[in-house]
Amino acid sequence: MSAQHLFPPIRELAEEVRAKRTSALDQARTALNAIRRADFGAEGLNAFISYDAARAEAAAAAVDAAVAAGGDGLALAGVPVAIKDNICTLDLPTTCGSRILEGYRSPYDATVVRRLRAAGAVVVGKTNLDEFAMGSSTENSAFGPTRNPFDLARVPGGSSGGSAAAVAAGVVPAALGSDTGGSVRQPAALCGVVGIKPTYGRVSRYGLVAFASSLDQVGTFGRTVADAAALLEVISGPDPLDSTCADRAVPAFGRELERDAQGLVVGVPKEYFPPELDGRIARLCREALERLRAAGATVREISLPHTRYAIPTYYIIAPAEASSNLARYDGVRYGLRAPGADATLAVYEVTRSLGFGAEVKRRIMLGTYALSAGYYEQYYGRAQRVRALIAQDFRRAFQDGVDVIFTPTTPSVAFRIGEKTEDPYQMYLADIFTVTANLAAVPGLSLPIGRVDGLPVGAQVLADRWNEAGMIRAAAALERALRGAP
Ligand code: GLN
Repeated sequence: MSAQHLFPPIRELAEEVRAKRTSALDQARTALNAIRRADFGAEGLNAFISYDAARAEAAAAAVDAAVAAGGDGLALAGVPVAIKDNICTLDLPTTCGSRILEGYRSPYDATVVRRLRAAGAVVVGKTNLDEFAMGSSTENSAFGPTRNPFDLARVPGGSSGGSAAAVAAGVVPAALGSDTGGSVRQPAALCGVVGIKPTYGRVSRYGLVAFASSLDQVGTFGRTVADAAALLEVISGPDPLDSTCADRAVPAFGRELERDAQGLVVGVPKEYFPPELDGRIARLCREALERLRAAGATVREISLPHTRYAIPTYYIIAPAEASSNLARYDGVRYGLRAPGADATLAVYEVTRSLGFGAEVKRRIMLGTYALSAGYYEQYYGRAQRVRALIAQDFRRAFQDGVDVIFTPTTPSVAFRIGEKTEDPYQMYLADIFTVTANLAAVPGLSLPIGRVDGLPVGAQVLADRWNEAGMIRAAAALERALRGAP
């Protein structure tokens, strides 16, 4: 299956709605019908955990009413969007792909959701994910795996696999995900769409269920750089409800889209082209770089020497923070409470045994160990110091005059469902090229650069902190150069 292009580019769609040539209600119905058609049954994508047609239609009708009342400032008027199910919404359950949140309803919308709605977007459903965003394939979901629209026997990547698959299948024009170590960029690559992880602190985390607080960011999916950037522009910016969200003005990302690659300096880190990288992906990367060069960019080899420590560093820090964040699921405050236990400790134990899946338990054990008295310095403390070195690698590269860094997004194309589930370490390696951006707090974007055996391949564009504008400019220029490809 390939994208069915039910929707025009987002800016056009919103313009059509504002001009009343179509309605938000029609657009919402198109998306809801596509969900019903594509998502369920043996051949379905299983990209959605929940949707509520009546509420989505009511929200869409409200947007149409706002347009009729002269609300022409709505940047995303009538744009149907899907939201990863670890982002809180008032009108739909928030499950995090976990049994432990069974029956939970958030009493508020996440800031990102509130901003999308205020811009006229219509939330049509919540998407599947690895439990608490831990994973790279969307197989660790209590609601079953999502399938890749390009090959139903393969994973869409993860953890935001539902959002990526929904955009790739054309069910919605855009979606939100979250990216702690690659969970937006990696599924974007494996599903042939664009995914953006902003600079840490660009986007509010208020209402994003915490996995690893120092790494988590909400990110966006779209079919093109323009579409993913349009959503990013709306959700970015300071939020008094999140103290880690920076007090920084948001540049107009849309202005970067038409700029060319003339004078752009692109760094290519040699550490991101190891022997394990699929040779056909390496070739597509070289061809993409050739196109950028032809469009006026300078391409330069660089080194990010601490790259090889990224996976071990990430898998200390992320589980450590996760073990602390997940302590709140105690059978008392949220969702599930296992029946049959009455003593307090037994309630915790039975609820958490039943409610969490295997990967979440693995992370809690890893993290609790790394944080335990006597080991804290040896593991968490040391990982934080290595993290600083990884961030320094990036800082130096950008200080040396590189505007953006270009890498493959993933070492392989989408793998088969079940292929890596028995071997967590192999699964962790699926994020080998993406975790560094989270550790260094820099923005990253994945865009499609071609196919191998009919399966999408993505390239990653990284930029210095707060330079989403430069990253979007480079990615849009590359996208245009590739479109001109023979
Ligand atoms: N795959 C990585 C992990 O399992 C990253 C997940 C994410 O970015 N949320 O932790």
